[in-house]
Amino acid sequence: MNDAPRLIDPYARAINYLRVSVTDRCDFRCLYCMSENMTFLPKKELLSLEELDRMCSAFISQGVQKLRITGGEPLVRRGIMDFFTRIGRHLDSGALKELTLTTNGSQLRRFAGDLFSAGMRRVNISLDTLDEKKFAEITRWGRLSQVIDGIDAAQEAGLRVKINVVAVKGTNEDELETLVNWCAERDMDLTFIEVMPMGDMGDLSRNDQYWALKDLRARLAESFTLIDLAENTGGPARYVRLEETGQKVGFITPLSHNFCESCNRVRLTCTGQLYQCLGQEDEADLRKVLRDHPDDDAPLVAAIHAAIARKPKGHDFDYSRQDVSGAMGRHMSHTGG
Ligand code: SAM
Ligand code: SF4
Repeated sequence: MNDAPRLIDPYARAINYLRVSVTDRCDFRCLYCMSENMTFLPKKELLSLEELDRMCSAFISQGVQKLRITGGEPLVRRGIMDFFTRIGRHLDSGALKELTLTTNGSQLRRFAGDLFSAGMRRVNISLDTLDEKKFAEITRWGRLSQVIDGIDAAQEAGLRVKINVVAVKGTNEDELETLVNWCAERDMDLTFIEVMPMGDMGDLSRNDQYWALKDLRARLAESFTLIDLAENTGGPARYVRLEETGQKVGFITPLSHNFCESCNRVRLTCTGQLYQCLGQEDEADLRKVLRDHPDDDAPLVAAIHAAIARKPKGHDFDYSRQDVSGAMGRHMSHTGG
């Protein structure tokens, strides 16, 4: 297998990482992600499981080596295990190096074993608090015990777990140490994410939720010794190791740091639109190309290359202005986080 990158953007960045949202639906309604009365897309708008397979396989044929499945909540999509099982063939062939998932954990008791069998070895599970009441407030519809049980199931199945914590001002500020120690005890890595201005949140103001990770990091440094790690995954995460626990902690700060120069990824929405950048509106309608050519992948591959050739240099998020300049109208659950 020739590992030379095939998708190179105008700024000489090799694109080898695809994130795919497989549904805009979810069994939770997290405050920073969705309003309680979300309107979801009609089913025919979504890529079918077969179309998802065709789409992902086309990217893999062009050198994509890492595939992350997200949503919405990917595990509430009916039949999604069939997709994972089938796409696993690219791991067997060696073309795909890693298949991963970002999930809220609610369905992992049911699916963790099958995910491992499909070739998955790592999952990211989102969990912002260990307090039952706060968990119910943040997720509106979620139950903490169900997610903890999902995390148990993932670890029992042999999946390595990373916990994603969205830092929300006034909500999980007082749980920093508890979350770090809990993850250390369970041998799980941990990443903090800064709230991003995605979608319309109704009455909730973004600026009220915003807790700069610079402050969070300073707070963490009061209790732990932080050792900077040089590691760069091509994404917005920066890592430290905590001397006291030995665990790796990541910080995703897309708003306050510029990570764009090393960007190696693109995002496919559940309706088959390719966003070359999370923070820009430009997109390519790959679903149309795919549906117009049901038996020929060449136009799809050409459209993928044309889209990568338009990948912008970076994004324009900016919280410093009151109107949250650069904010995106679309929801994270549509694009995939
Ligand atoms: N439902 C799955 C989950 O919650 O992990 C996958 C999709 S979710 C959109 C992916 C990640 O995006 C989660 O870690 C979630 O906490 C995060 N997220 C959602 N809305 C966000 C926002 N406005 N700012 C920052 N992170 C956000
Ligand atoms: Fe659902 Fe994930 Fe959004 Fe929460 S963050 S509402 S779990 S998609």
